[in-house]
Amino acid sequence: MEAVLQVKNLKKSYKNYQAVDGLSFELYEGEILGFLGPNGAGKSTTINILSTILKKDSGEIKFFNKEITNNLKYIKSRIGIVPQDLAIYEDVSAYKNVEFFASLYGLRSEELRESVLEALRFVGLEDRKDDIPKIFSGGMKRRLNIACAIAHKPKIIIFDEPTVGIDPQSRNHILSSIKKLKAIGRTIIYTTHYMEEIEEISDRVIIMDKGKKIAEGTIPELLEQYKNTRVYKISIVLKDCNFKYDFLYEIEGIQKVELVDSCLAITIIKEVENLDKIILSLINRNIKISHMTSEEGNLELVFLDLTGRKLRD
Ligand code: ADP
Ligand code: MG
Repeated sequence: MEAVLQVKNLKKSYKNYQAVDGLSFELYEGEILGFLGPNGAGKSTTINILSTILKKDSGEIKFFNKEITNNLKYIKSRIGIVPQDLAIYEDVSAYKNVEFFASLYGLRSEELRESVLEALRFVGLEDRKDDIPKIFSGGMKRRLNIACAIAHKPKIIIFDEPTVGIDPQSRNHILSSIKKLKAIGRTIIYTTHYMEEIEEISDRVIIMDKGKKIAEGTIPELLEQYKNTRVYKISIVLKDCNFKYDFLYEIEGIQKVELVDSCLAITIIKEVENLDKIILSLINRNIKISHMTSEEGNLELVFLDLTGRKLRD
């Protein structure tokens, strides 16, 4: 597989805060690479550097085997960025918005018109092309933002959390249009803090935290080491902030216990049936249980295991 983007040891700090801390990765032609990380992980900083809005402190970035700084025009015409913050003009029509961005890449006359309409059709806004974004829902604005980024038919499209704060229908529309972009041969980076979305669309995943890559692989690869385990998440009413849970390790089959906020995440070996013992042990200590779920192999558990924290707080 050919790498269409290579990032080596990328670093960026804001004053004395290290937002991206030695990030290296490759993007392969035709794949959807999911970037999963909690708020503050450094996803947007990385993307803003890739889109050249932001300057890196150090590291190497090559698109299509070309150093980014010396080949700006060539690279920019071949990548499309959907920024986390909407970049659209609220008072001019959807059509004019897309036309403006597409024209920046040198598209003219009939080719421009067709590309704009195709992009609007792609995001399901063709019949709203003459309306102004001001009257659009959040989801429609997001979709317009995407149309602006893809009208010039870039080979690589980078999405920065495109589904935050929008309705489920627009969300589904966006996810399925990303799959369609892949089907027509585009290469995609998709960043989010929603693991369900990453699980739905990614071929490969990079998990980021505190500016670093903490895991990388296909979803089955990432879940491989968790395949024999299950996690009970038991929310308890915490009365004592020095609450100790060592007693749980006395129960057979328990591998790991973590307390995140007021939720006990108890990793057990799948074959061992010990839920009754766990609950009894809590009740015997007068611990009130307010909620419980049972989870198997998902990326949230990978993140929890690696960092001791939840993806979303
Ligand atoms: P993400 O997109 O994964 O949520 P960001 O790249 O936006 O993460 O931010 C990474 C870290 O850098 C955060 O701690 C954030 O507060 C900080 N940061 C981002 N932009 C700036 C800025 N312009 N000035 C100072 N700190 C910033
Ligand atoms: Mg961000």
